[in-house]
Amino acid sequence: MLSSLMDPAGRRISYLRLSVTDRCDMRCTYCMSETMTFLPRAEVLDFEELLRLSHVFVGHGVRHLRITGGEPLVRKDIGSFLTELGTLLHRPDDAGRLRELTLTTNGSRLAGFADLLVRAGVRRINVSLDSLDAERFARITRRGTLATTLEGIRAARLAGLAVRINTVAMAGVNDDEFDAMLAWCGQIGADLCLIETMPMGDTGVARQSSYLPLSDVRARLEKRWTLDTIPAAVAANGPARYVRVSETGQRLGFITPLSHNFCSTCNRVRLSCTGRLYTCLGHEDGADLRSLLRGGATDRDLNDAIGAAIARKPARHDFLLERATGQVMGPERHMSVTGG
Ligand code: SAM
Ligand code: SF4
Repeated sequence: MLSSLMDPAGRRISYLRLSVTDRCDMRCTYCMSETMTFLPRAEVLDFEELLRLSHVFVGHGVRHLRITGGEPLVRKDIGSFLTELGTLLHRPDDAGRLRELTLTTNGSRLAGFADLLVRAGVRRINVSLDSLDAERFARITRRGTLATTLEGIRAARLAGLAVRINTVAMAGVNDDEFDAMLAWCGQIGADLCLIETMPMGDTGVARQSSYLPLSDVRARLEKRWTLDTIPAAVAANGPARYVRVSETGQRLGFITPLSHNFCSTCNRVRLSCTGRLYTCLGHEDGADLRSLLRGGATDRDLNDAIGAAIARKPARHDFLLERATGQVMGPERHMSVTGG
């Protein structure tokens, strides 16, 4: 078993985001185009391949595994895959044990999966929800139904899952709703995390016009709510900076890749559904683990390739999105392929 992974900037890599599919039953305007085409199945790792890589990563020091996509819950047999992954939480060997299994979902199938998730060992999930207005929700997601996602969230809370609502903050789209969302999250006992739009992949919709720096949003929210900063050391690892909302007791997070770079504390890597390891959301460099897997690689070969990719992990992303000048810089691949 190899020791834990450290990148050249001294960041310990303990978190893997695993995209299990690029497919989705929604087409959110900031994520995909209306006519998004998906990968042929042969290009996507099968569950056996995904499980093998998960074992290798956990052996390498990964302690937090988040399942994402595309929409993870639309993949056939995802339930048995998650149940199998959950066994990594109960390994007798402390050094090789996963500490946390989590999931990011759009909620469309959550109602049918909430109990299974709990049985598999999942304790908290992120659910994407950009509006509490049914028409607006339908416009943003193009195919989603607000009532279905809300039903999924309700089922998740009833099953005992902690829920964080992820909301992409968009000027002129949903920026009049953050007060209402914060209040609603307080009522259902969920955290809320606001996210700046990232320039990833062509969606057929210009992102500059809706880009909203979260520093502005925070200043506005502070007029109505008491926001107490939670020190980074107390908050969970990751890019979000958290405050406690005194009035509700819930947390509010801000993910600000554009207005406030968070790379210095990055502890994560991502595995796309095609088996490509990305060491940074904003860069193309990584490792083609699918070719190795399908070429008969040993665990040692996989370990070496993962270690070599992490040794090249960029110090920071180079996203650029400027409303005033119209400048945009980001990778061509979509978030749904890399795994958001
Ligand atoms: N389908 C699931 C969902 O929507 O939660 C999981 C995958 S989705 C790619 C993961 C997260 O990425 C979602 O919270 C979504 O809002 C976010 N996302 C997608 N494209 C984004 C972009 N261009 N900028 C910022 N966030 C984005
Ligand atoms: Fe699908 Fe999630 Fe992308 Fe929306 S954000 S299109 S739900 S993958």
